[in-house]
Amino acid sequence: MSDELARAWSEVVTTACRTVTDGLVVGTSGNVSARVGDTVLVTPSGVPYDRLAPDDIVAVDLTGRRLHGTLTPTSELPMHLAVYRATDAAAIVHTHAVHATAVSTLVRELPLIHYMAADLGGPVRVAPYATYGTEELAENTLQALTARTACLLQNHGTITYGKTLAQAYDRTAQLEWMCRVWLTASALPGRTPTLLSEDQVRRAGERLKGYGQQRG
Ligand code: 13P
Ligand code: ZN
Repeated sequence: MSDELARAWSEVVTTACRTVTDGLVVGTSGNVSARVGDTVLVTPSGVPYDRLAPDDIVAVDLTGRRLHGTLTPTSELPMHLAVYRATDAAAIVHTHAVHATAVSTLVRELPLIHYMAADLGGPVRVAPYATYGTEELAENTLQALTARTACLLQNHGTITYGKTLAQAYDRTAQLEWMCRVWLTASALPGRTPTLLSEDQVRRAGERLKGYGQQRG
């Protein structure tokens, strides 16, 4: 196995552990993956993340054929592979974050409560429910991700992707935070939160391209 794959696996495990310590999943729920060329590293199914060692690497190709490791890949492999085949994703994070999962049971799309929706490509859709681990869920997810880097999975959780694991993870955290803001603002009796227009969010998105420290 190459140093590059070993490094990427270590990042996958660190990120998966973080989903537990940050309270975005409980136990072995959720899964994390990263793409290195045509190799996809995924967390194994049903194994506590803090027990994963360098030797536990699970690597498959874009069709799901095993390349390295002996552990069974995540049950959501169809969903991860569908996203890698259809987008420029280099990393994917799937969680059962509380506020996001709650919102997925209430609406078809997260209302535009905050401009950070722009970082996810616009209003975040809810993929219709399908049994976990199925091709049907993979298909529904892909549809909901059209022109977005995140969606909610109805009565299930979140999925986000990015160019790096750090970016995919940050998008999950931002999505969970936005869902929490919307639920909090919506909970006041007799009050309805103001929402942003798609145009306001689009303009924030333009500005976000220059956000932070611009290098080089
Ligand atoms: P795995 O343990 O197989 O990754 O399943 C967790 C999950 O979140 C299924 O949707
Ligand atoms: Zn799940």
